[in-house]
Amino acid sequence: MTTVRTLATVAEAVSERGHVLGGGTLLMREVNYRPETVTEILRITDASLKEIRIEMSRITLGAGVTMAAVAARAELAALAPSARSVGGPAIRNMATVGGNLFAPHPYGDFAAALLALDARVHWAGGREEEIESFLAGRDRASGLVTAVSFVPPARGGFRFRKVSRTKPKGVSLMSIAANLTLSGSRVERARIAFGAMGPTPLRAKAAETALEGKTLDEAGIARALTVATDGLAPPDDALASSWYRDRVAPVHLSRLLLERS
Ligand SMILES: Cc1cc2nc3c(=O)[nH]c(=O)nc-3n(C[C@H](O)[C@H](O)[C@H](O)COP(=O)(O)OP(=O)(O)OC[C@H]3O[C@@H](n4cnc5c(N)ncnc54)[C@H](O)[C@@H]3O)c2cc1C
Repeated sequence: MTTVRTLATVAEAVSERGHVLGGGTLLMREVNYRPETVTEILRITDASLKEIRIEMSRITLGAGVTMAAVAARAELAALAPSARSVGGPAIRNMATVGGNLFAPHPYGDFAAALLALDARVHWAGGREEEIESFLAGRDRASGLVTAVSFVPPARGGFRFRKVSRTKPKGVSLMSIAANLTLSGSRVERARIAFGAMGPTPLRAKAAETALEGKTLDEAGIARALTVATDGLAPPDDALASSWYRDRVAPVHLSRLLLERS
């Protein structure tokens, strides 16, 4: 049997063990289909989990902020495409930032965007970690994530693309987020993250290195495309084979970088 406990504050949740309830779009599926895996649910009603804080140098999204809330905020326009890529409207009204961080393959489109933003993950109790190390260890992690925070992307520097078989609501064959610092058309710094190209969203580090110092045109991105999937682990699943994902990733990365449809 599954029990649900409601806690009014993050402080109360620090020492508790159980499955944290976000919007429940995945967790309640587990309760329905594999109830023996979810014995205790923690429902935390602390209002801070729903906060969006926008400062000049940092944006903080509470873990309980929904995809719909992200998509609705004008100041978060750069992130709206990644928030809107998660499911349909009913899912986005429930699905939270915190839940997306833990969402298994092929989910995690918003987490891929956060990875490209070098987000920090904030845990109840005050611990913080880089999203990359969070994702690497998330299957062994326990506790309450309270928020994520990141430096606002430069205007025009953040791009996101989701590739799916069924539009507009299908799950990802892959998603790609790029966070570029540009000087004119020259790339000074690049962060590229792929969703659904490994067990968790992963950075394409070889492509990032190959882009830095180059111009954002066909010749400038050519090397990055040849190493686009280095270090990734494209899976075989019902949507696509690993081989197919590996072959089409450079095509989609090229379209994203050159802003072609
Ligand atoms: C029909 C459908 C379509 C979907 N389409 C997409 C899609 O296109 N793209 C996509 O990325 N995802 C998709 N999803 C998956 C899911 O809806 C999203 O990933 C969503 O963001 C998960 O958030 P949630 O709040 O519902 O998580 P929940 O179901 O509440 O939780 C998911 C997991 O995260 C843990 N968790 C949640 N919040 C916290 C927290 N604050 N601290 C610690 N642990 C936490 C839970 O304990 C659980 O293990 C889809 C799901 C469905 C059912």
